[in-house]
Amino acid sequence: MINMNVEISSLRTITNCPRKFVLESKEKRKFYQENLTREIIKYGGKLKYAEISTEIFGINLWATGVEVSVNKDEVVVISKRMGKKLYKYHYYEAALYGYVFKKESLKNVRVIFKSDFYEQEMQWEDYVDTAIMLIKNIAENEMPEPKVNHECKFCPYSAECTRILVQKGNMEIIKGLGKVNIEKLESAGIKTIEDIAENKEKLEKLLGKHRGLKVWAHAKAFLEEKPVFFNELNKLNEGIFFDIESYINFHYLFGLLYEDKYVPFVARNPENEKEAFVRLLFFLAEDDKKDLPIYHYHNYEPNQFKKLLRKYSIESKIGERFLDIYTIFTNNVAVPVLSYSLKPLAKYFGFRWRTNLNGMKALQKFEDYLSTRDETILKEILLYNEDDVRATKLLWEILNVQPNTM
Ligand code: SF4
Repeated sequence: MINMNVEISSLRTITNCPRKFVLESKEKRKFYQENLTREIIKYGGKLKYAEISTEIFGINLWATGVEVSVNKDEVVVISKRMGKKLYKYHYYEAALYGYVFKKESLKNVRVIFKSDFYEQEMQWEDYVDTAIMLIKNIAENEMPEPKVNHECKFCPYSAECTRILVQKGNMEIIKGLGKVNIEKLESAGIKTIEDIAENKEKLEKLLGKHRGLKVWAHAKAFLEEKPVFFNELNKLNEGIFFDIESYINFHYLFGLLYEDKYVPFVARNPENEKEAFVRLLFFLAEDDKKDLPIYHYHNYEPNQFKKLLRKYSIESKIGERFLDIYTIFTNNVAVPVLSYSLKPLAKYFGFRWRTNLNGMKALQKFEDYLSTRDETILKEILLYNEDDVRATKLLWEILNVQPNTM
């Protein structure tokens, strides 16, 4: 696989789904900081968002999103993390950062991983051989098979994987069926998606009425390739649609859709976060909006909203107006998709995003914006955020038209 750009920061994906890693690595992404990084590692200095690559097995192996501090003998690479502890893949990541910077600078390289919870200098040399083997496998192997995992939720390749997995009758794709329940069904002779669809009553006995119905509806949706509405729903009121974009702990964009108009509240620096948030609160509290429900998708928005109220010691009852489209959807409709995250679900119903961003890519883009201050990058993120709120609205519309409830 020649000419792939493999970003070390997405190494974790190899362990979850090698197929996704390979597909992602084939996508083109612009790297803005490479020349500057090369100058710094040659002449010395500091850089917050370094980007540099080296070629290995015909692959361009990229170290991105790391901070570097360089003198004439040494390169110190700092990778800022969000988690509470280090996992195995972090050591392979560190090994590859060490490998790339050592090869490109010919200097001594130290690699440090830092989060709010730890700071550790990594003994990266000990892990280089294994990490290089991982990259070699990627370079040499054909396209890996789909492997159902939690990354499917955010995965842009899920439509093709769904087709392959349904063909194989793989029950792991049914929402609400974990390993334990799959074993339970298998020992009762239910071994494929077709078996599920043919055994509604048995399923309700084995899994309980509500879960049994949900699982059965889901299998039916996959086999018939259409949504199955399995409960009756009350009509949802008109409202405002809401989505937040964040960079680590900095919430830089609060996007709303109100009367079909997109209204963004942007903070270009962490110091402006409070001001953007307060402007949002005032907008939501205006007379013509104060009684409207605020629809969002899943629990990120209400959680961050609460955190921001606490952070800035603001009293507000606005959070009581939140209504989660995800919860309403999953309790009432089965759809033939691998994940009920916003993108695959809205795409299934025909929504098309105007950018190719997702949560992780938007974060990388904002990192690019912070280092370049290029407003076209921010515009792209705004477009992505607007599409997210419009997609949420589309799902709200689907819930409101619900054809043929069973
Ligand atoms: S949808 Fe799931 S199985 Fe398919 S590539 Fe993505 S993560 Fe892998």
